Amino acid sequence: MPGEYILDCGLISPNAKTVIVSAVLETVGQVRFGDGTEVNLTITEKDLVPIQGGGFVEKVVFSGSKRRGVDRRTIHALRNQFLALDPPCYIPKLCGQCPTCWLFGRAAMGEGYNIKSRVLYASALSVEPADIAVAVHNRNAPNELDHTTGEAGIHSEELIKANVHFPTITVLDRVVDWEIGAFAHALLENVNGNRYTAASARQGGVRFSEGENGKLIVVDVSERGIFPLETVKVPGEETDFEKVLQMFADAPDLQKIKEFFERQGFTCEYDQTNNLYTVKKDDGELWTIKREGSKITVTQGKDENFRALMTRYIGDQALGFLREKQEDFKLFLEGYTVDAWNQTLSAIKGKLLLNESTGEAQGARRSRGRGRRRAANEEERTEEQLPSESEEESGSS
Ligand SMILES: [Zn+2]
Repeated sequence: MPGEYILDCGLISPNAKTVIVSAVLETVGQVRFGDGTEVNLTITEKDLVPIQGGGFVEKVVFSGSKRRGVDRRTIHALRNQFLALDPPCYIPKLCGQCPTCWLFGRAAMGEGYNIKSRVLYASALSVEPADIAVAVHNRNAPNELDHTTGEAGIHSEELIKANVHFPTITVLDRVVDWEIGAFAHALLENVNGNRYTAASARQGGVRFSEGENGKLIVVDVSERGIFPLETVKVPGEETDFEKVLQMFADAPDLQKIKEFFERQGFTCEYDQTNNLYTVKKDDGELWTIKREGSKITVTQGKDENFRALMTRYIGDQALGFLREKQEDFKLFLEGYTVDAWNQTLSAIKGKLLLNESTGEAQGARRSRGRGRRRAANEEERTEEQLPSESEEESGSS
């Protein structure tokens, strides 16, 4: 029977889920994203975003590849406390065999197979426009003897100010509990430990923004990759943080959810006894939507036909969900043995029809010519699917 492995993996598990994490991070103190080793990088990454009705607004970018690099290092650090990998696996020499490589991907660099990442990091744009969000510091070299300013403008650097908000989205595709936990571990510990920003005594970090339902985080989980409720996604052009707060306040609001379905041509019936909505189309019952505290479930059918389609966790309950999965990651690492993982590994390779001699894997093919990678299907290729060397360099150590 498939999925009967001691060490599970979303690629072969019948229990794999899709998870979308939408969270707003805000800066505490002045920050720069990255690890601070890029000494000559004193300019903040920015982007011009088109706005409705014409024109542009300039936003600060918290790049998905930087966030991903920092996360991966944090996951490696915990993994290495439990596992003695042979060969060792580290950035940039990823082994392509270990559990984290099969979750976060690996670029073949001319040999072996590519592994697509199943954790997809979108770049985040600041809510506040860049002219408000960025401070420029001019560093002079004051003359110690005569107290003159000395050589002015010797060096200038840009820093992101405090209270700048970054709505982030991360998609975890076909993952099992420990894999959700690996991401959860990275997110929670990196926010807590200020690791998304350059380390320096005078610089701050990030924290989860707060709203009326607690922290601004929504975690949507689907068993089959179907999400009847829309993910909370802040438009790139949004410059009003009050509107962002409202979007997160609406996420658990059954009345708002009812309106959302009615706009799509469905009818909603309220069942007062059970405090739930039934969504119907032409008298056929499609879904049942129920709210319990900060958790919303969307289900389908009854009795033997019953299926849970989607669960939404909001605010502190979302954090609780992630904390619980973080423990699953630890349990996975504690239960890891080379033999058990080799069984999982051969099941993965069997399923992907992976042929080591040709280096061909599903959806990705070994590079051709002068060692440069090329995806088999250019249309499928996105920055997120294959980790490049550059993005992995930008994490903090
Ligand atoms: Zn590895």
